[in-house]
Amino acid sequence: MTFKNTKEFALELDQLDVLNSYKKEFIFPKVNGKDVIYFTGNSLGLQPKRTKSYVDEVMNDWANLAVEGHFYAEKPWWDYHERFANPLSKIVGALPSEVTVMNTLTVNLHLLMVTFYRPTPKRYKIICEAKAFPSDQYMIQSQVQFHGYDSSDAIIEIHRREGEHNIRLEDVLSKINEVGQELALVLIGGVNYYTGQVFDMKTITEAGHNVGAFVGWDLAHAAGNIKLDLHEWNVDFAAWCSYKYMNSGPGNASGCFIHEKHHANKDLHRFAGWWGHNKERRFKMEPTFDPVQGAEGWQISNLPILSLAPYLASVEMFDEIGMNVLIEKRDKITAYLEFVLNEISNEVNGTFEIITPKNQDERACQLSVYLHGEGRSLFEYLMKNGVITDWREPNVIRLAPVPLYCSFEDMYDFGQILKAGILK
Ligand SMILES: *Cc1c(COP(=O)(O)O)cnc(C)c1O
Repeated sequence: MTFKNTKEFALELDQLDVLNSYKKEFIFPKVNGKDVIYFTGNSLGLQPKRTKSYVDEVMNDWANLAVEGHFYAEKPWWDYHERFANPLSKIVGALPSEVTVMNTLTVNLHLLMVTFYRPTPKRYKIICEAKAFPSDQYMIQSQVQFHGYDSSDAIIEIHRREGEHNIRLEDVLSKINEVGQELALVLIGGVNYYTGQVFDMKTITEAGHNVGAFVGWDLAHAAGNIKLDLHEWNVDFAAWCSYKYMNSGPGNASGCFIHEKHHANKDLHRFAGWWGHNKERRFKMEPTFDPVQGAEGWQISNLPILSLAPYLASVEMFDEIGMNVLIEKRDKITAYLEFVLNEISNEVNGTFEIITPKNQDERACQLSVYLHGEGRSLFEYLMKNGVITDWREPNVIRLAPVPLYCSFEDMYDFGQILKAGILK
């Protein structure tokens, strides 16, 4: 399709968009009395209007039933989390028994490393991406140190080549083979938070397994954004947060995946709690832990229902739409945003550059723009004019045109505001 950088053309694309009506389902902050153009759904998704009723339901059940709500609430609390298994499994490409919701992301990655990072003097190294999200870096360092290893020796980072913005697949694979028998675990962000690069998870997972390592993925920027097929890809484990593309609200619960092939293995170490115990016998208060077979066997505490309620609203919305429809719009709107950026760049003599891969297989809903010259003031100009982006040092703004609530018209309008901001 040949795009045009005109209001008329953008409005035509909106008319053809089957997800266009979902914009109305979200609550937008306002600047100067107008809904903002929201590009930070990769950081905190907007609030869906339907979410409040899910939370109110729990508040009402708690008021009316108190402790009885565990069993007699509209959606009983004792097995509330089981409502996620079906819709969530479709979002991440898993069997329902392979996914569950609990805790928060970094906590879950720690818990999953208790199971899948069991270093020995011969096999103790972890491969991750250089400049990973800071929380992941701290997590991996502390795990390695906890087991008595030296992080500078045990953590192998994969770097970008000089002058390049993205990591090459061939460099990941050759590093895995080089570390070989010493490699215990590969743990990478499936979509890089800074550049938006999407990794080839299938190929990397296979390469890790070929040298005898476990392979896990941090899917913070992937869940609800890209097509995942965790079961088929044979991924050992994964975890994600729900407040980015999945719109569940600040700091909300995480989801996690543990491949079916590990479910029956009682030799796997894990940190246990009563919510991971055999469901039929959970309230018998027996002394010996008998884990549920499935991701639920990694549950520890009874669940924060008030925090799951918005997440449930979200997975039900995703289920109603389906990832394929979402991805189709995502690719089109991201391509349109890229087009608009390139048009503006020509008009203002290239004062910025897109560092996200151009190839659609290697990117999803995010374009990261490197600003040459005075970046910070441009970012602030955008904020003042109703465009919410985010700023990352040294000079990058990240733009996520989330297909659920961004319109093609937003992309056009953004281009005009950006141009005015650069030329002012
Ligand atoms: C957002 C994000 C996190 C956040 O972790 P929390 O435990 O939810 O605070 C972690 N890792 C990556 C890659 C992220 O993008």
